[in-house]
Amino acid sequence: MIDLRTETLQAFAAVYGTEAASLWSAPGRVNLIGEHTDYNDGYVFPFAIDRRTFAALAARTDGVARVASSFAAEAAEIPLADLAPERLSGWSAYPLGVAWALREVTAGRAEEIGFDLFIHSDVPVGAGLSSSAAIESAVAVALDDLWDAGLDRRTLARVGQLAENRAVGAPTGIMDQSASLLGEQDAGVFLDCRTLDAEVIPLGFEAADLVLLVMDTHVSHSHATGGYSARRASCEAGAQALGVEALRDVTLADLPRARDLLDDETFRRVRHVVTENERVLDAVRTLRERGPLAIGDLLDASHRSMRDDFEISTPELDLAVETALNAGALGARMTGGGFGGAAIALTPSDHVSRVSHAVDTAFAEHGYASPTIFPVRASAGAHREA
Ligand code: ADP
Ligand code: MG
Repeated sequence: MIDLRTETLQAFAAVYGTEAASLWSAPGRVNLIGEHTDYNDGYVFPFAIDRRTFAALAARTDGVARVASSFAAEAAEIPLADLAPERLSGWSAYPLGVAWALREVTAGRAEEIGFDLFIHSDVPVGAGLSSSAAIESAVAVALDDLWDAGLDRRTLARVGQLAENRAVGAPTGIMDQSASLLGEQDAGVFLDCRTLDAEVIPLGFEAADLVLLVMDTHVSHSHATGGYSARRASCEAGAQALGVEALRDVTLADLPRARDLLDDETFRRVRHVVTENERVLDAVRTLRERGPLAIGDLLDASHRSMRDDFEISTPELDLAVETALNAGALGARMTGGGFGGAAIALTPSDHVSRVSHAVDTAFAEHGYASPTIFPVRASAGAHREA
């Protein structure tokens, strides 16, 4: 079987009629714990996965940027001089948006050279594994090198975020790009969303023979967008009523006062965020002191909090979590924004097929669409391949 690297280089040559000069890759990510904490200035703890997006690159002398991908039929091209967020659309807004954002962040100090770029990937699109950050990060490291910009990883993460916010128009945070750029093998990226400090924390999954199973329910509820905005609004209302800048500033000890001050629904929204921040810190501490076999309960508590307090789970996600736990997973939770999407289960390698089979069977018994279940391992962040 030829691998993605070879396929990317071959496809580049077929599309552009020349050899690529360099090959880059960046991973998707999964969030281990810390959900709906990012916009509350809190903590998240994602890791880079062993699914990657590859970018083959060659310079051009005419100042034109051309992009093509195995994912989409349409290629795109634009003179670099014309790059502007409002001129970009479709999938090419991701790579060309990164070129634009790199220019913004370097304030024109980089040597802006035209290029041919080909993208190829095995990160599933729209499965909650951030194929968007993978493509942004692969292009960001490739162009940083071509343009001799010399930006560090944290700044490149901002470049990806800027591209997604302005060129694509998605109001996302910086978690996904940070995981994709800073990730390391068998390690997670502990990110403080207020200070943007990021710390690489060893997971120890390999030595303990654990994998993280992703269980994509393929459910996407129509009220996901509205639900997300409503949760954000509740968090803002809670913070305002409690007189703090963000829910990050509320501690467990403040919860009794919060219960007195807030209506029941807002209180439960606040309690999710406050306890979830605490669980992220606890997960990092537990990994350091007791190792990965001890973090299962934190994943379970995170799920219950999202199900009961934040109310963003679905029957399918609850079933996936419950079934995985009964079949031998050490801990499980829904992951991502909620109202559908995927759940994750920390699973001993030799239980993977039992857990997968149990979840498949349970979904069939409930008449739910068949889920896609696959293991991910914590892997290296963006880098040059060739
Ligand atoms: P995800 O959860 O996977 O990040 P998004 O909607 O944020 O979902 O991003 C998916 C979009 O990113 C795709 O619709 C496409 O426009 C772009 N994209 C991701 N991977 C690729 C790829 N390999 N080639 C071209 N475009 C891609
Ligand atoms: Mg995305």
